[in-house]
Amino acid sequence: MIDVVSFCAELIKCKSVTPDDDGALDLVADFLASVGFETNIMFFRSPDGSNVVKNLFASFGSSSKKILGFLGHSDVVPPGDGWSTDPFEPVQQDGYLIGRGICDMKGGIGAFCCAVAKFVQKKFDGSIKILITGDEEIGTREGIRSLLQWCRETGNMPQDCIIGEPSSENILGDRIYLGHRGSINIVVRSVGQQGHVAYPSNFKNSLSNVCRFVTHMLNYQWKYEDKRFPQTHLEPTMLFTNNYAQNVVPDQTSANLNIRFSADYDASILKEILQNEAEKFDVSLEFIESGNAFYCNDEKLKSALVSSIREVTGVDAAFSASGGTSDGRYIVSHCNTIEFGLLDRLIHQKNEKTKLQDLLNLEKIYLRFLKKYFSIESDPLENRHEIIA
Ligand SMILES: [Zn+2]
Repeated sequence: MIDVVSFCAELIKCKSVTPDDDGALDLVADFLASVGFETNIMFFRSPDGSNVVKNLFASFGSSSKKILGFLGHSDVVPPGDGWSTDPFEPVQQDGYLIGRGICDMKGGIGAFCCAVAKFVQKKFDGSIKILITGDEEIGTREGIRSLLQWCRETGNMPQDCIIGEPSSENILGDRIYLGHRGSINIVVRSVGQQGHVAYPSNFKNSLSNVCRFVTHMLNYQWKYEDKRFPQTHLEPTMLFTNNYAQNVVPDQTSANLNIRFSADYDASILKEILQNEAEKFDVSLEFIESGNAFYCNDEKLKSALVSSIREVTGVDAAFSASGGTSDGRYIVSHCNTIEFGLLDRLIHQKNEKTKLQDLLNLEKIYLRFLKKYFSIESDPLENRHEIIA
C-alpha cells in the first residue's frame, strides 16, 4: 500500500536531527527496495575519521537512454522550544500534518518516493536514481559531495535531477527554483594597538577599521545585469571585539559577513573585489566559499514540470532563483537541476506543518512529471486538478 501521508508520518518519527539518522534512511531504503529499487546505504568518512555521514543511493532500471534523479536530505534542524505538539510525533490536525522536517524535506522525500513507486509498476525505457544525504543542514564533505563523487566514479550520475526541497511560496506549485545565488562567508579581521580612548595618538582602533570597512561594503554599488537573480547583496552577521572597558579601544576585532551573489559575479572575482577594498581599510579577509550562482536552462525539464503542476493544481508556476542555497550547487555541475517541493514558509520553525492535500498533490505532480519525462501517455481518466479541501 503506497500512502504518502503515512510514509511521511513514519519518517517524522525518526529523530534525524542533523547529522543523526535514527533509521530515516533505512525506512526510505526499505520502501524503495519493496518496489524493486536496488538500494545502497553508504557511510562516507572524513580522511581523519572524525566525521561519518550516512547516505542513500537507490536505482531502478538499467537503460542509459534517460536517467532521472531525485535528490533530497533526510536530516532536519533541531526542533527548538515552543512546539504545541511533540515535534517527532506526527499529528494530523485540521487538514495538516505537523512534525519537524515535514516541509524541509521529509514531505518531498515521501512524495517523490511514492510517485516513483507507482511509476515503476509499468514498463518504461530509462532509469531512476534516488540520492538522499544525511547532513544537508550542516553540509560537510561526507554528504552530497562524497555521494556525487561516488556516482561519478561508478557511472551512476543522473542526466537530469529534481531536488524535492521546499520551493513553493504561498500555494503549492506557485514557484519553482531554477537556480540559486552563490554564497561566500567572509571573516574580516583587524589587529590594532590597545590604548586609552582619550588619547587617539597612542592607539590604533581595530574596531574602527572593521566598522569602516563593513560600512564601505554595505554602500558598495554591485552591478545588476542578470535579472534572473535578485541583486547581489552583502550582509554583516557577527561582530566580535576583545574589550570589556568603556575607556579602552580594542586591539583585536573581527566581523562575519555573507554575500549572496548573482551570476553577474563568480566567487573568484568577488574575492578580488573584496580583497582590493580591504587593503584600503587595514583589515584582512578570510573567505569560506559555498558555491557560485547557477541556473537551469533546460526547456524540456521546465515545461514538463510547469505543465505537471498546472494539470494537478491549476496553478501557473513562476521561476525564481532567490532563496537559500541547497545541495543543487554541487549537483548542478553534473546534470540539469530543477528544484520543486512544498511551501517553504514554515521551514526551520516550530510547529512545522503541511497541508495533507499538498502532500497528495505533490506526489501527483512528481508522477505526472515522470510520465512526461519518460514519454509515457497519461491515463485520460486521471483526475484533472482536484479541488483542494
Ligand atoms: Zn532542506
